[in-house]
Amino acid sequence: MQSASNNQNSSDSRSFDDGVIELPNQQHRRSVLQLLLWISAAFGFFFTLLNWQSNAQMAIVEIALATYSLVLLPFARNDKQQFKVSLLFLVPLYSIILYVLTMPTSTETGYVWILVIPVLSHLLLGRWFGLGLSLIFMPIGFVLFAIRFHDNNAIFNVVATSNVILAGVATLVFSHVYEVSRTRAHRKLLHLATTDSLTSLANRTRFLDVFERERNHAIRNNSDLSLLLLDIDHFKHVNDNHGHDVGDEVLKYVSATICHRLRKTDLACRLGGEEFGVLLPGASLERAISIAETIRKNIADVPYTRGDKLIALSVSIGVSEYGFDGRDLESMYAIADNHLYRAKSSGRNRIRSREMMRNGELDLALAD
Ligand code: GH3
Ligand code: MG
Ligand code: MG
Repeated sequence: MQSASNNQNSSDSRSFDDGVIELPNQQHRRSVLQLLLWISAAFGFFFTLLNWQSNAQMAIVEIALATYSLVLLPFARNDKQQFKVSLLFLVPLYSIILYVLTMPTSTETGYVWILVIPVLSHLLLGRWFGLGLSLIFMPIGFVLFAIRFHDNNAIFNVVATSNVILAGVATLVFSHVYEVSRTRAHRKLLHLATTDSLTSLANRTRFLDVFERERNHAIRNNSDLSLLLLDIDHFKHVNDNHGHDVGDEVLKYVSATICHRLRKTDLACRLGGEEFGVLLPGASLERAISIAETIRKNIADVPYTRGDKLIALSVSIGVSEYGFDGRDLESMYAIADNHLYRAKSSGRNRIRSREMMRNGELDLALAD
């Protein structure tokens, strides 16, 4: 008994502070936005110096854009404001590009800047908003091009116009397709990095991430949050008697049984080996014990079947509650683990929690 628990405790020495996962695209877009604001400020001041003597009107627009980019920069570091800041940067930037193109001093080559619109829009706003903003500003650019050069046959002829339009469409399509596949690859990678490959449950990294979010939610709303720690009883016997492959199937079966009882907002996780964690947002200790009891009963009542073989299973469960049993995952885990150890010590296939200890259900086996 002691040795089983010691095994368990040795694996528990892993720290939970592996870092928190960021939402897809957040970090990537934040870096791109900050880089663009720096570039925009640097280019703005550079062109202001160049145009100061020859084109004062242009220089004023450029120094305004450069200053505006620097003002936006501190806000770009805030993830929640990143989309808003991107829009606040891109809309004036595109408007200035289009305005500058209408100036009599601008040349026909200035219109190549329209090709930058779909690239920046997709990079900063993602596939759909990026596409939307491009579809607003690019046609305006082409219309301005047509108005400006319609009486200049050297520029406004079928070949040149087709080139301009096709290059614009190609840049838009490639930016969009690239953004769609990048987002998919990012999501897939995130899924692989946060999912246990055998059971498809969340892994420790995701568990930590969700715990942080749920804890902040519980603090803000003064709501409950509980944790279950489950360990399959005598799982080594399953491997020894039926082989490792059957052991793997049993792990999947137990995972599915745990999930069967949970709500969408609950999170089950494989913490390692045959040990599982379940996070129950909004659940008081009483409710958590009731959920744990249903899971325990479901696993004990319905054996795993393989052909004509039946494998009887059971789990021991330790329960802890946010606030009373700790205010971070480290302490809540330690308390739940302590209760799990008591559940094992007192005969397995049972649940232990603070409430049960207080009610005098102290395990006699512990006294041994
Ligand atoms: P207790 O009731 O005290 O928890 O006993 P136990 O046999 O369940 O615990 P013990 O820690 O002695 O053994 C756990 C076993 O789980 C040993 C290990 O080989 C097995 N195991 C861990 N990960 C996997 C896995 O991914 N697949 C399989 N098939 N077995 C695994
Ligand atoms: Mg174990
Ligand atoms: Mg076990």
